[in-house]
Amino acid sequence: MTAIILDGKELSAISEDTIKNKVDDLVKKGIEPTLATILVGNDPASETYVKMKRNTCTRVGMKSIAVELPESTTTDELLHTIHKLNDDKNIHGILLQHPVPSQIDERLCFDAIDIKKDVDGVTCLGFGNMSMGIDAYGSCTPAGIIRLIEHYKLDVKGLNAVVVGRSPILGKPMAMMLLNLHATVTICHSRTQNIETIIKNADLIVGAVGIPKFIKSDWIKKDAIVIDAGYHPEKCGDIDLDGIEDIASAYTPVPGGVGPMTINTLILQTLQSAEKQ
Ligand code: NAP
Repeated sequence: MTAIILDGKELSAISEDTIKNKVDDLVKKGIEPTLATILVGNDPASETYVKMKRNTCTRVGMKSIAVELPESTTTDELLHTIHKLNDDKNIHGILLQHPVPSQIDERLCFDAIDIKKDVDGVTCLGFGNMSMGIDAYGSCTPAGIIRLIEHYKLDVKGLNAVVVGRSPILGKPMAMMLLNLHATVTICHSRTQNIETIIKNADLIVGAVGIPKFIKSDWIKKDAIVIDAGYHPEKCGDIDLDGIEDIASAYTPVPGGVGPMTINTLILQTLQSAEKQ
């Protein structure tokens, strides 16, 4: 059996059309869905990500407001900016691009975002609510992965799922989302021993390590579901996908799998926030 390709590029394009129609409807009612993006400093990769997010807003007819702050910004200055955006009733979503310069307390700033505008799913409160199964905007990359899983009707109930990585924006929320779907979840990280053995026993693997091809294709069990969140300049992910179509039952390609779903989920959640207004 050939593996199912979990095509994030296709799903995000379909979703964009739906979002665009809903944005048009809101605009006709006098509500202009608006995302505020905050970029602190001059990191070229962050600049590119923010630009891609704003371009997607433009494509669906959504307004985006770019706040650009200098590299020398302090925590207090960033908090002040966030509070102003929280108070602005014309802003429906706030994206604080990660990472911020090291002198800033990023966690404090994330948690200053009003929960109603936390469309990137970065606050502790949003994470807690999501974990408890209470309505919340999910962190966009894992939430986008769940949308792919649901779109392709993959039943993860009871599966032995292994998430490699435990970052606040990816590995941890991913694990909780899979747990909420009744998978049996193991989280691996840099201190985990015998990762290869753990992965060899997985029915579902999420690569969220940040190391190119860290997970080898011969560690992957026959018919496992393979989700690769990584993306590296050499156009590969965190999993060696060589020959994966003959091993996995379903997999996300790199590029064109998880990546497009992340931005699409941000835009979708901004729309949902505007609809709730
Ligand atoms: P991160 O914050 O650097 O976290 C990496 C995680 O991997 C950490 O939990 C770390 O463990 C673990 N790790 C590092 N080396 C390891 C090793 N040798 N063995 C086992 N675990 C190890 O990265 P991230 O932000 O979560 O991103 C992970 C990947 O996803 C990256 O490739 C990134 O480019 C990609 N990503 C993609 C999108 C998208 O839109 N497609 C969005 C975000 C991230 P410790 O906690 O013990 O340090």
